[in-house]
Amino acid sequence: MSGDLRGAGEFRLIDEIGARVGPPHAGVLLGIGDDAAVLAPSPHPTVVTCDTMVEGVHFRFDLTPPRLLGRKLLAVNLSDVAAMGARPTTALLMVSLRPDLPRDAWDGVRDGLLELAAEHGVALVGGDTTRTDGPVVLSVVLHGEARHPPLLRSGARVGDRVCVTGTVGDSAAGLRVLLDRPDLRGAHPEVVRRHLDPTPRIAAGAAAARGLASAAIDLSDGLVQDAGHVARLSGVALRIELGRVPASDALRAVIAALAPPDPLVLRVAGGEDYELLLTIPPDRDIPATLGGVPLTVVGEVVDGPPGEVTLVAPDGAALALQRKGWDHF
Ligand code: ADP
Ligand code: MG
Repeated sequence: MSGDLRGAGEFRLIDEIGARVGPPHAGVLLGIGDDAAVLAPSPHPTVVTCDTMVEGVHFRFDLTPPRLLGRKLLAVNLSDVAAMGARPTTALLMVSLRPDLPRDAWDGVRDGLLELAAEHGVALVGGDTTRTDGPVVLSVVLHGEARHPPLLRSGARVGDRVCVTGTVGDSAAGLRVLLDRPDLRGAHPEVVRRHLDPTPRIAAGAAAARGLASAAIDLSDGLVQDAGHVARLSGVALRIELGRVPASDALRAVIAALAPPDPLVLRVAGGEDYELLLTIPPDRDIPATLGGVPLTVVGEVVDGPPGEVTLVAPDGAALALQRKGWDHF
């Protein structure tokens, strides 16, 4: 369909969502269409999270293909459920749309979200659809099932090893390419993809909750800043060795090509990695991979001022960062 959302009709938009949700889900007694959804009780504790994305703050339609925006809207919520060590189950979608939004853009967001939901067996069970005359606002509420005791930010203890899944910094490098050097987009597709279409580490989080990790957080705001949340809530300090922080070849290539003034910020403070930071007690073996992704020891939990994160260079010197991570205010 062409045109924009003027005259689309709220109920038609909702019907179009309902027509595209996946097959019936064991945990859903009643899905989209009534005043509220009805969920079956679960034998496990329920985790629930929400995340909002605001046009102009979190995304721009000129930089982000709508289908990937829809995927990312769900992915950031899936990442929070992963960080609790839980399995995602059902979701709600709240959208405030401007009437001049192109039809194709909305259809893409909707279909991208439903596509990733299907990949993770998540049922979309409801939401809300409103008009706005300001920027587009997209929110998801996601439920998950904790089959093992949830992984908290507060569980790290002195002596634990600090580990991260996958590689860190790619997403920030991808955003830097999109904003500053769009001409290089084709030369660095991998980091751009990591920025636009992050992979939530559900399987890794679930494996970490099966008696491996003492604490977990997902890396949304930057490794050093998010490590600080674990340190503060656990009442410990963290020491992270820059030389051990896993950087992809794709990230190293972007740093070489752009020669940014702040390569360290890109490496450890860029945000939107959606990898997991885990702390693992000293008596447990650290597997090489977790849920199909490499797991790397990057440092340790130490005695020190609660909340302090020290980033050390290969020569042992403490490094200062111009910016620790993303902060809205
Ligand atoms: P009410 O006015 O009673 O709140 P709505 O008209 O807002 O009802 O919603 C009707 C049905 O459509 C509800 O089941 C609601 O959960 C669902 N719904 C509305 N907007 C969305 C959306 N963006 N995504 C998924 N379901 C939605
Ligand atoms: Mg409503």
